[in-house]
Amino acid sequence: MNILIIGNGGREHAFAWKIRQSPLCANLYVAPGNAGTSMLAENVSIGVEEFEKIKVLCIDKKIDLVVVGPEVPLVGGIRDFFESDPALNQILIVGPGKEGAQLEGSKDFSKQFMLRHNVPTARARTFHSHETKEAIQYLENCIPPIVLKADGLAAGKGVIISPSIEEAKKEISEMLEQKKFGDASAKVLVEEFLDGIELSVFVLTDGEDYVILPEAKDYKRIGDADTGPNTGGMGAVSPVIFADSTFMKKVEEQVIKPTIAGLKMENISYRGFIFIGLMNVKGEPYVIEYNARMGDPETEVVLPRIESDFLKLLTAAAKGELKGKKISIRNEFAATVVLASGGYPDAFEKGKVITGISTDSQSTLFHAGTKTHDNNIVTNGGRVMTATGMGKTLTEAVEKAYRLASTIQWDGIYFRKDIGQDLLKLESANKA
Ligand code: AMP
Repeated sequence: MNILIIGNGGREHAFAWKIRQSPLCANLYVAPGNAGTSMLAENVSIGVEEFEKIKVLCIDKKIDLVVVGPEVPLVGGIRDFFESDPALNQILIVGPGKEGAQLEGSKDFSKQFMLRHNVPTARARTFHSHETKEAIQYLENCIPPIVLKADGLAAGKGVIISPSIEEAKKEISEMLEQKKFGDASAKVLVEEFLDGIELSVFVLTDGEDYVILPEAKDYKRIGDADTGPNTGGMGAVSPVIFADSTFMKKVEEQVIKPTIAGLKMENISYRGFIFIGLMNVKGEPYVIEYNARMGDPETEVVLPRIESDFLKLLTAAAKGELKGKKISIRNEFAATVVLASGGYPDAFEKGKVITGISTDSQSTLFHAGTKTHDNNIVTNGGRVMTATGMGKTLTEAVEKAYRLASTIQWDGIYFRKDIGQDLLKLESANKA
């Protein structure tokens, strides 16, 4: 098969790495890709929203399967674009259409969807831009902390947790009236705060059947011990020890099954990933959010744990043939540490020469913001690489990830030092 992966992050490098291992993979392309994907595939300099150029590429390279990495082209309707074009509609795609991608593209849509299908979630109310007065009145009776969510895509920044009613009032005015997040905050959800431990569960579905991929926990804040501003993610681990079989059974029965049945009931054809952000509140799962794609850096711990031929599963999902398909998962731990540019998530410099990449480190060193320049690999983004370690225990996986991370250098490199430590503490508390 000829395959095109769309995107340029660590997630897409991990996709390329895993797809390359399949005997079914003939030619592999990544648009636009990064320095890491160029070692496994042919990078094509096309942006993720340049659908017309993607069309030409697909025809030219006789692409059989397109795997869409990020949310922007999904919400922008890349599947609908392919399906409505006779020259493209035979090409298989992993990723939902515009309607299904609303699960991620609109927090109001996804909240109403969860309520319609009895999926456990936090209570919330949505306010439109002309309803600031009503929103402020409503906040009077809320119990802090208060969660405010911009309805639309805001590059992971649209959620604000306010410690007081006063601050929430100020924030909601900025969001609704001053359009703090542009059109994304034309609607804002005021949501009840869920107190628990977060984890993410990933499902690959063809709209009828599904396989559950390994779960993961990510680390969103820039600083150790979850301090400082939010980022796209600074590390991840899988499996998550508190997601035992009892909890995962609840997730499957109370969340996954009603979600897939709900999509079907609403005639939303969905072939792709559903990323379910969950809060474990005293052993009960609540959905915080859906995403219409895999997470980054979670993919960099999820895929190394999958033993099955991933390309076969992707193809089955895209064809609507997941029925009876099983996924085999390695009984190992994986941890990944994101190596970031100093200054991220605020201003940072690009173009720093990266050293220390050896051939044997490449297998689980996934590139994100990198590019090749004058025969060097240089930094080209905030999150530059992720270093994944695998082991029989979480301790071993974490150690290996940090050992790999420590071999990489550039001027200003930054990474968190505590990925997995919270789970290791929880593990030893459980044993005591
Ligand atoms: P989201 O973009 O919806 O994933 O939200 C970003 C982050 O905000 C989540 O990863 C949670 O840490 C936090 N969050 C979102 N909703 C809630 C909630 N209802 N209660 C507590 N924390 C939340």
